[in-house]
Amino acid sequence: MGGQQRVRGGRVLVQLLTDWEVHYLWWFVADAAVMVPETRIQLRRSFGWCAEHAWGGVAVQAGLTHGYLHGLAILYDDLVRPVAGRLRGGRWAWRRVLTAAPCPLCGSEPRGGSRSAPQEVLRRGRNPAPMDALVAASEGRWAAWRCGACDGSGFPWRCRPHLLAALAAGEALDLAGIREGMSRLGEGVFRYARGYRLEYRGMTGAEEVAAFLGAIGWCSGFAPFLAAYGADPGEE
Ligand SMILES: [Zn+2]
Ligand SMILES: [Zn+2]
Repeated sequence: MGGQQRVRGGRVLVQLLTDWEVHYLWWFVADAAVMVPETRIQLRRSFGWCAEHAWGGVAVQAGLTHGYLHGLAILYDDLVRPVAGRLRGGRWAWRRVLTAAPCPLCGSEPRGGSRSAPQEVLRRGRNPAPMDALVAASEGRWAAWRCGACDGSGFPWRCRPHLLAALAAGEALDLAGIREGMSRLGEGVFRYARGYRLEYRGMTGAEEVAAFLGAIGWCSGFAPFLAAYGADPGEE
């Protein structure tokens, strides 16, 4: 990163969550809650979280775990890889596949819930360095998966929410091209998730990290990510 004042990095993302949410994610990570079947079913229905909770969540989890995101990698592999195979038929069928339940973290904070958060957990969770390192490891290749409606660039790829909006509005879409793109994105996330296994260590490169970031953005939208890292990867 350098040069551009506008680029503020993970510091923007870790501030998206309340103290209670940071504390909640600490339990989420410690309990490996993402592996619990009921949680997984709920997150499948909602395609993860809203954009703020998804990006704030990955940044905070990276801080809490020093960048070890195996659980999230498995989750996004689970959310994104099956999509290409499900996108069949016409626009109505696509809309059914792409429609998500509300974000499970929105509105879940109890009143006064942040008071018990230990300072050490907050300090670690709000450390933006591991998220910045993750994004840097993608070497700007995340730009291949950014949504041209989220960044207003007209780039042809669309995140899930903007794809739904385009389908609803009857916009012309290259459905075969999107399905093919989803297939490639799913393969990339699969390799990223697999890269956490011992026998695949060292086989995960910039493409795989970019696919992981692309999967988060595809599910939830890119706005917070772009606010943090800039719409143009050349600014990194
Ligand atoms: Zn939310
Ligand atoms: Zn979008």
